[in-house]
Amino acid sequence: MTPLPVTRALFDDVMVPNYAPADVVPVRGEGSRLWDQEGRDYIDFAGGIAVTVLGHAHPKLVAALTEQAQKLWHVSNVLVNEPALKLARRLCELTFAERVFFANSGAEANEAALKLARKYAADHAGPDKREIIAFNQSFHGRTLFTVTVGGQPKYTEGFGPLPPGIAHVPFNDLNAFAAAISERTCAVIVEPVQGEGGVTGATPEFLQGVRELCDRHRALLIFDEVQCGNGRTGHLYAYMGYGVTPDILTTAKGLGGGFPISAMLTTATIAASLAAGSHGTTYGGNPLACAVAGAALELLADPGLLAGVRRKHDLFMDGLRQINGRFGIFRDLRGQGLLLGCELIEPWRGRSREFIKAALDQGLLVLVAGPDVIRLAPSLIVPDELIQEGLRRFERAIANLAAPSVPVDEELAHAAR
Ligand SMILES: *Cc1c(COP(=O)(O)O)cnc(C)c1O
Repeated sequence: MTPLPVTRALFDDVMVPNYAPADVVPVRGEGSRLWDQEGRDYIDFAGGIAVTVLGHAHPKLVAALTEQAQKLWHVSNVLVNEPALKLARRLCELTFAERVFFANSGAEANEAALKLARKYAADHAGPDKREIIAFNQSFHGRTLFTVTVGGQPKYTEGFGPLPPGIAHVPFNDLNAFAAAISERTCAVIVEPVQGEGGVTGATPEFLQGVRELCDRHRALLIFDEVQCGNGRTGHLYAYMGYGVTPDILTTAKGLGGGFPISAMLTTATIAASLAAGSHGTTYGGNPLACAVAGAALELLADPGLLAGVRRKHDLFMDGLRQINGRFGIFRDLRGQGLLLGCELIEPWRGRSREFIKAALDQGLLVLVAGPDVIRLAPSLIVPDELIQEGLRRFERAIANLAAPSVPVDEELAHAAR
């Protein structure tokens, strides 16, 4: 077999076409910068989809991984291992949790949470308490159960028959929720800040109201903090900023800073329903993943880092407002901490993906959250200078796409040619 050059074109020849990756092939990363095969640099405001919370190749994470790699990679759940127990203990110390279950992805953590909620109801209530309530536009993963619970019908098309007993109601609409919840409801799952659905935060009154109604109807409240957890909002977990505590919390993306790991956190009473043999996963609690996540969690729990996230939020918002003052293409700039959404006005609605390409051309990585929103999810320790430089690149990208509504300076005029 002749070795082919490793280019984006190879993707089409050897990969299932479920993704639509850009042409760039990154080969190295450091902090908030990436370099491609040609040595071109990119400022990373995408963070591997809100994952690389501590940037690329953070020395403390590299050290934790390489140290553990010399010692022990995998033993399975037939045995305990030190990194997993230490990480679980830290998560319990730092949150409401008393028990932890480890898995490898956000979907798996949510799958565990939803199964636990059903099992808990089976153990403590009659056979009629099976229903799960979720919210429109929510995203909870791609397994058949979690994708059905998610509130975006386009992701379940063609995959039926779907698991039953799942209802959807509008997000941030407490009246609609109050009308939907009943004694048949066993669990409610909500993202405190919807990520994929458009970077939309729950209102505090909504989350508070959901909590109260869950208590009244003895339904478990699950917070999906796969995206908004791990310092992303400027709080270690978003629930802490809201002051509303869930019964089960799921976390993934940022937890390993780029190493695959997820966790489901809950109380001892609820956890008891997952008795030995009732649920599991081969790699959950893998020593490599837990060693990296343990190092990441120590950095993320630092109040100084979290205050930095809130300060950097303001830097981003100021810069984005200035860009909008010039081009007037955003109808809303929103988000919490370093999860930011720029919602496009007409005639740009439906065209968010064009901005990914335009940004790449300027050496910048950004994300979208649906067709109308450009999403930024940089490292939580992105240096201020790189925020400024990245925003300059973003502005040039926008200048290339949109005719400016007011005269632009030399540099922008140059970039637009
Ligand atoms: C990304 C995401 C998931 C799914 O995580 P995977 O690791 O892709 O399975 C679930 N919930 C939310 C809120 C997410 O953002």
